[in-house]
Amino acid sequence: MAVTIPSPPTVLLSLLFPHQSRNSRTIPRISSIRCYSSPLSSMDEHQKRVVVCGGGIIGVCTAYFLSKKGAAVTLVEKSSVACAASGKAGGFLALDWCDGGPISSLARASFNLHRSLAEELNGYESYGYRTLNTLSLTVTESQAQKQTSTSRDENLPSWINGPARGPRTIGSPETTAQVHPQLFTRTLLSKAMESYGVEVVTGKVEKVGVEGERVDSVVLEGGQVINSDAVVLTLGPWSGKFEMLSSLFRVYGLKAHSIILEPKELGAITPHALFLSYYPAQGGRPMNPEVYPRPTGEVYLCGMSSEVEVPDDPEEIVGDPESIRVLKRVATTVSSHLAEGEARVKAEQACFLPCTDDGIPVIGEIPGVLGCYVATGHSCWGILNGPATGAAMAELVVDGKCSIVDLSKFSPSRFVRLGKR
Ligand SMILES: Cc1cc2nc3c(=O)[nH]c(=O)nc-3n(C[C@H](O)[C@H](O)[C@H](O)COP(=O)(O)OP(=O)(O)OC[C@H]3O[C@@H](n4cnc5c(N)ncnc54)[C@H](O)[C@@H]3O)c2cc1C
Repeated sequence: MAVTIPSPPTVLLSLLFPHQSRNSRTIPRISSIRCYSSPLSSMDEHQKRVVVCGGGIIGVCTAYFLSKKGAAVTLVEKSSVACAASGKAGGFLALDWCDGGPISSLARASFNLHRSLAEELNGYESYGYRTLNTLSLTVTESQAQKQTSTSRDENLPSWINGPARGPRTIGSPETTAQVHPQLFTRTLLSKAMESYGVEVVTGKVEKVGVEGERVDSVVLEGGQVINSDAVVLTLGPWSGKFEMLSSLFRVYGLKAHSIILEPKELGAITPHALFLSYYPAQGGRPMNPEVYPRPTGEVYLCGMSSEVEVPDDPEEIVGDPESIRVLKRVATTVSSHLAEGEARVKAEQACFLPCTDDGIPVIGEIPGVLGCYVATGHSCWGILNGPATGAAMAELVVDGKCSIVDLSKFSPSRFVRLGKR
């Protein structure tokens, strides 16, 4: 079968690092990334050619594990790698918080894979992997003025000096951890390119080519064709805009906001992730913002979500000013170290959680199209579940079956059974 590769392949470092961080310590080495002009020239004729569509954490983990298993992988991303939720998420990981639910085994396998990847890739240095304590707290905004040093709960870390009550430990270093999600995703891709020959192409996937009942190519906007033996669609919330998938099941986007603050006193913040029940001063239902200090000393806060239409271009996603304002108020109330004037605002942003109607990710082969797979719908646990999803998908595509997780409950065929076609 002839192979059509965009000529020359658009392997762009700017795709990987469009807004290179000031902190060069955390940037993966890129000097030795090899660009393969044609994967066929260096592959044996039995090597499976796989095109992974979408360069978020799910696509990158899939590309990494597929290439490690010997497949010739091309990753197609329409904007930049980890430009969406996979770059703007909190990066919080939990071993057992999904226990008792449908993603329990996926989450446990993935938490452990994160640990081994951190060892393999020096994630402590390169993408801020660390274990941490996790607390739940109640914060009542209207009490902020009444807070005194004597009314402070002494079980709280000292930087949490606002009106916080009832701290409860809900995660320990054995059960909770974190990564910087954008650095994680880009580090993994660098490794996959450098060591296993993954090629990255910038382009928008328009459709999957099918010959008979079997996939044979991917067609990009502009007409470029990449021939392939298998295709994996990892389009996150854009799955809902891709006809082949949207005709089978619904994926919708939940827009959520975040800010990143850099306190003046970087060393003041301890490794404690916070899950808040936050009572706003004006009344109304409590909100549930989350606070993740990072090893660099910066602090990530997120919350404020709503279901809205996902724009075509990920670069067009911006935060709503009111939601950003609320997050800044939360920060100021929780800690004087995070208040305006005490902390620099490094980012104000928004992104979309990819959600399914039954709340369960969709991972598996698409019914009726041999060789075409999907992995999406990871909702608020995509950073946690990226590695196990990628490893499972690699097994499914290369070996035809998966040993690390039972994928049956994630199969897209559940929607066909429900008659949602
Ligand atoms: C505020 C917030 C905080 C979060 N915090 C956490 C957390 O702490 N822990 C956790 O586990 N999870 C967290 N999540 C969830 C997690 O971020 C997502 O589940 C995960 O990033 C989804 O990854 P993805 O690869 O499926 O999608 P995305 O990251 O959205 O990637 C999809 C990619 O596909 C590309 N694409 C789309 N269409 C095309 C096309 N036609 N052709 C080519 N490319 C295309 C896009 O440009 C994009 O790069 C959080 C999410 C949000 C919004």
